[in-house]
Amino acid sequence: MVSAIRPLKDRFGRTINYVRLSVTDRCDFRCVYCMDEDMTFLPRQLVLTLEEIARLARNFTALGTEKIRLTGGEPLVRRDILDLVKEIGTLGLRDFAMTTNGSQLVDMAEPLRKAGLHRLNISLDSLDARKFADITRTGNLSKVLDGIDAARDAGFPGIKLNTVVMKGRNDEEIPALIEFARQKRVDISFIEEMPLGEISEHDRGLALFTSDEVKKVVRRHHVLLPATEDSGGPARYYRMPDSSIRVGFISPHSHNFCATCNRVRVTADGRLLLCLGNEHSVDLRRVLRGNPDTENRLRKTIIEAMELKPERHYFSTNGDVQILRFMNMTGG
Ligand code: SAM
Ligand code: SF4
Repeated sequence: MVSAIRPLKDRFGRTINYVRLSVTDRCDFRCVYCMDEDMTFLPRQLVLTLEEIARLARNFTALGTEKIRLTGGEPLVRRDILDLVKEIGTLGLRDFAMTTNGSQLVDMAEPLRKAGLHRLNISLDSLDARKFADITRTGNLSKVLDGIDAARDAGFPGIKLNTVVMKGRNDEEIPALIEFARQKRVDISFIEEMPLGEISEHDRGLALFTSDEVKKVVRRHHVLLPATEDSGGPARYYRMPDSSIRVGFISPHSHNFCATCNRVRVTADGRLLLCLGNEHSVDLRRVLRGNPDTENRLRKTIIEAMELKPERHYFSTNGDVQILRFMNMTGG
């Protein structure tokens, strides 16, 4: 075993203490901004085993990682995911979260909480059953709404809804989504769509609905005051004087958040991605499989990979595809 080392740092002085681990590229939904209707998924032998993902989590933690988020694809379609959650739950992380589409939460929320997960982000782009079905292509709104209730009943202290806003598709639902979040007492973040992967259903340039536009809509109904606390992530948070919830804005286009980036991602096939909007990466699966009995090589590879972390992303807003990988590969 190698002893604990100082936190990971990149060339720009940023401390990297947050890792998003994608546990699968598969999903039971086909959201229009995330996937094509007809997707080819990774062959199983290329996907990291749960033990390999747990090994990564242990080693990142030994290198100063304080926060892990499990994501995908849809993390809850991965068989035996609870075993992984239990294992990571023992690492003493400051924050251990999962991003999910909510479709399995009716059955999974309580076991996840008991297994040691701290927080849940649940994607919800519409409260209109038909629009929800259009956006997710295969999703069932009532199942997700029941899942959100199950997460609340399970006693998760932190639940946040994530909404990707697209002009002409769901921008009209912003007020209803805000009322829903207030009523359920859960936070909500509005996300600008990112140009990841080539999609067929809409023109991303035309569909861009900026965070400032969302704020304008919310302010027609509520007072929004900038929150004083630092989120430690890309979201800028606001509060309303008459509610306990926070309203976040993730604005990869309109408010670049790269200067404070503290995170890296590992794809389902073990690629350490240093930036969401760039292709700089290192193959950790090869290192994991080539060094089954020692962690030295893996830790050295991770430390050295920080040198590759780019300063920032450059997403254009003209709808051009700059990054060919879809978000389900990236691990949102
Ligand atoms: N399946 C889970 C879910 O939907 O929450 C986890 C994975 S999903 C890739 C993670 C987050 O990325 C979701 O909130 C989703 O809405 C968001 N997302 C996917 N594609 C996106 C894109 N092109 N631009 C912005 N957000 C995107
Ligand atoms: Fe699946 Fe999440 Fe992508 Fe939707 S956003 S297709 S739920 S991985």
